[in-house]
Amino acid sequence: GAVIGILGGGQLGRMLSVAASRLGFRSHIYEPGANPPAGQVADQVTTAAYDDRAALARFAESVDVVTYEFENIPTRALDLLETHRPIRPGREALRISQDRLTEKTFLRKLGLTTAPFAGIVDMGDLKAALKQIGTPAILKTRRLGYDGKGQARLLRPEDAANALIAMDGAPAVLEGFVDFSHEVSVIAARGLTGEVACFDPGENVHRDGILRTTTVPAKLTPAQRTDAILLAANILNALDYVGVLGVELFVTPQGLVVNEIAPRVHNSGHWTQNGCAVDQFEQHIRAIAGWPLGGGQRHADVVMENLIGDDMDRVPQLARDPDTAIHLYGKADVKPGRKMGHVNRIKRSV
Ligand code: ATP
Ligand code: MG
Ligand code: MG
Repeated sequence: GAVIGILGGGQLGRMLSVAASRLGFRSHIYEPGANPPAGQVADQVTTAAYDDRAALARFAESVDVVTYEFENIPTRALDLLETHRPIRPGREALRISQDRLTEKTFLRKLGLTTAPFAGIVDMGDLKAALKQIGTPAILKTRRLGYDGKGQARLLRPEDAANALIAMDGAPAVLEGFVDFSHEVSVIAARGLTGEVACFDPGENVHRDGILRTTTVPAKLTPAQRTDAILLAANILNALDYVGVLGVELFVTPQGLVVNEIAPRVHNSGHWTQNGCAVDQFEQHIRAIAGWPLGGGQRHADVVMENLIGDDMDRVPQLARDPDTAIHLYGKADVKPGRKMGHVNRIKRSV
C-alpha cells in the first residue's frame, strides 16, 4: 500500500494519520520534537531536525507523497524533499502563506478584500504606515506567528515604540483594525484533477487569541455564504492547489474581509469529523492521493469546542452527553493554552 509522509507530529498530523489509515494507507511522520501526538498512531516516526539532510532524504524515499500539518517548514528542507517526492499542497501555497506580507499582497491581487496593511522593518516605516492606516491597528510578525503570538495592538500612535519592541527585530506587517461583527472560516479542498469541494462556513469565537469554538451553521446570509465559498475556490484555483485549505474571514457590513489562509487542515474544520460523511482529514488524504473528493455536505448542526489546558478536567462530564463526540490528542502534560483535544456537540440533524 501507499505511504503518506506527514511533516509535523502534532494533533493535525495525528488526525491525518488516522484518516490515512482508514483509507488503507500507511503514514510516516517527520517531527523534530520528542513524543509527538501523531507518533502514537502513525506507522512510522522519524525524529530528526529539518536540517538533517540524510534523515529528510530517507524519509522522502520511504513515502509516496509528502504533505504537512503546518506551514513553517524551512525552505531548504522542502527543496530537498521535492527532489525525491511530490509535495502536496505545492510549494507556491507554502511560499505565500509563510509570510503575511506576501500572503496579503497575493490576496489583494486576486481582487479580494484584506485589512489595509503595510510592511514594517523599522520605526520610520511604522510611523509612515500609521499615518496611512491610523489606529486602532495590529502589528504582526510576517513569519511564524500562530494563536495570536507575535502580535501587538496599537490603540494610539504612541503605542508604536512598544509594539515594535514586541516584534523583537523581526520584519512585521501593520494591519488596520477591521471592525467585524463576527469571524467565519471556509475549509475548502481541491483535488489532483482540479475539482473543488467546500465545507459549510463555520463561525469562530476566539479567546486570548486562541480558537475556542466553531459553530455550523454560521450567521451568514445566503449571499455571504456563496461569496465565502467562491472566494475560497478562487484562492484554490489561483494556487493550483491540491489538498485542504483554511480561509479565515471577517464579516463586515461592507462584505467579507480575508484575514489569513492556512495551507492545511484547520482547527476550525474539526466539526466536519462528526458533521460530514467525509471529514477534512479524509478529504485532505483523498486529495493528495489523487482520489475523488467527498462532497462537503453537512448532515448535522455542530458546535466544536477546543479543550485547552485545564478544560481536560471537564472530559468526564462531557462524556455523559450522548450527543457529544470526544477527540483527545494523547498529550501527556497539560499546560495553560495548550490544545489537548476538542469535542463536537451535535445540535440537530439536518
Ligand atoms: P491562528 O492561530 O489563527 O493562525 P494568528 O496568530 O495567525 O492565529 P490572526 O489570525 O492573524 O493570528 O489573528 C488572531 C485573531 O486576532 C483573529 O482571529 C482576530 O480575532 C484578531 N485579528 C487579527 N487581525 C485583525 C484585524 N486586522 N482586525 C481585527 N481583528 C484582528
Ligand atoms: Mg495564522
Ligand atoms: Mg488566524
